[in-house]
Amino acid sequence: MTSVTVRGIEGREITVQTGLFIDNEFVPAQNGATLDVENPTTATHLATVSAAQKEDVDLAVQSAKKAFATWKKAEPSTRRELLNKLADIVERDGPVLASLEAIEGGFLYRDSLGLHVAQAVENLRYFAGWADKVDGTTMSIAQGLAYTRRQPIGVCAAIVPWNTLMIFFWKLAPAIAAGNTLIIKTAELTPLWGQKVGEMIREAGFPPGVVNILPGLGSVAGQALSEHDEVKKLAFTGSTATGRRIMQAAARSNLKKVSLELGGKGPSIVFDDADIENALLWTTIGITASNGQICAAGSRIYVQDTIYEKFLAEFSKRSRDAVHGDPLLPETTKGAVASSAQLDKILSYVEKGKSSGLRLLHGGEKLPGDGYFVANTAFADVGQSHSVMREEIFGPVASIASFSTEQEVIDKANDSDLGLNSAVFTNNVNRALRVSEALETGTVTVNCWGLVHANTSFGGMKQSGFGRDMGHEALDGWTVTKTVKYNLLN
Ligand code: NAP
Ligand code: MG
Repeated sequence: MTSVTVRGIEGREITVQTGLFIDNEFVPAQNGATLDVENPTTATHLATVSAAQKEDVDLAVQSAKKAFATWKKAEPSTRRELLNKLADIVERDGPVLASLEAIEGGFLYRDSLGLHVAQAVENLRYFAGWADKVDGTTMSIAQGLAYTRRQPIGVCAAIVPWNTLMIFFWKLAPAIAAGNTLIIKTAELTPLWGQKVGEMIREAGFPPGVVNILPGLGSVAGQALSEHDEVKKLAFTGSTATGRRIMQAAARSNLKKVSLELGGKGPSIVFDDADIENALLWTTIGITASNGQICAAGSRIYVQDTIYEKFLAEFSKRSRDAVHGDPLLPETTKGAVASSAQLDKILSYVEKGKSSGLRLLHGGEKLPGDGYFVANTAFADVGQSHSVMREEIFGPVASIASFSTEQEVIDKANDSDLGLNSAVFTNNVNRALRVSEALETGTVTVNCWGLVHANTSFGGMKQSGFGRDMGHEALDGWTVTKTVKYNLLN
């Protein structure tokens, strides 16, 4: 099978298989279809990999179906051991995965290694621990007894976005711990790290077909998975628009279970009684980390009027400058955004802000270089109805506004179709509890932003989706409950 060699951290050569990973083998698409991968730092071609078509999806589904027949009978401890083995391999080869994510996605190598890969390992180990604890309950009934079994669903699929590789493991780890078999479609922009994971799956010793990995286009392979009658559950992370399409496809086909982790427009609320240094630190990270290409980005910032101007000046000082360039180099603090389409989308929102006369605190331009670099940008005094305040930009663009009362900022924060996450900065405990209760988001962080822990669940309210990644709640989405009732009276 063919492979491609690219250069990662410290110039190390990394060889990546280019085929579809089906039944523990790398195979070309049956009609030979491929997709091109670009390096967004240089805007140059990086690799060509196979692109799964409908018939390849069928092949992967058959492989997963065949594997499920024996996998469902495997000892829970087998699943645990395999997930732990995979965790060890991912940890060992972390620099390889982080290098690939940096060169194909533009993510800083250190963020990828220190957060994305580290969380991949954490999730594998956390859910390995659950593999032999997917227990039901027993109930007394008048006729005798009843008990529940939490059984695997069967052949499941996941469709993941280009940001970031940890999301892939948020799906894989609980799906496998619960005893399912899985087909994962990686994103068009970032298939290379997924290809490497295929090799790791094989090395760990998973039986063929338990995990199949398909690079391919959303409109082809993604659509085929979401319409497939033999896929019993589909877990999706991506945009709200695609989420809608997936639900429609599920409804048209076999009513597969669907879980959706969609976009966000996360409000960060800074009260004047907060530790301002701490609030500045987290609000800056919240919108500049990974260039704001994080579903949980703190992209709306509401600051109490009593400290507003002072906060703006400090926020701007801390967040405007960055050293942009090669994400593999330690001195770089800003990588390229993932694609030219992503750059254009971000710049079009910046243009909307500028042309409607919004107060530009800093940024607002493309940065020099061939790659897709965009300056950290902030607009102040942004009205609730402006599109930069309402729509997910998925870029390093902060939309800031002032507020005077607690109720006013709760109303503003909740005035959104999206509800993924929010952050509250205050040293008043009662206020922190009151506001956290009132916010319509799946996660609220207090005096911090965006912390990720494998044992805490993550997911949306409102149009940010439903279903949860991480935490023990994630397992509920990968099992189906069966109730068994015994009549002991006859
Ligand atoms: P996207 O276009 O929705 O893509 C996500 C995945 O869906 C990709 O694998 C994509 O394939 C696939 N896809 C596209 N069209 C499809 C279709 N018709 N049927 C089935 N699958 C299809 O989103 P994106 O632009 O890659 O990612 C950014 C978005 O994801 C943002 O809105 C962000 O907020 C959201 N996001 C949410 C979370 C979360 O946890 N809630 C995390 C990360 C990102 P292609 O790659 O070929 O397009
Ligand atoms: Mg897309």
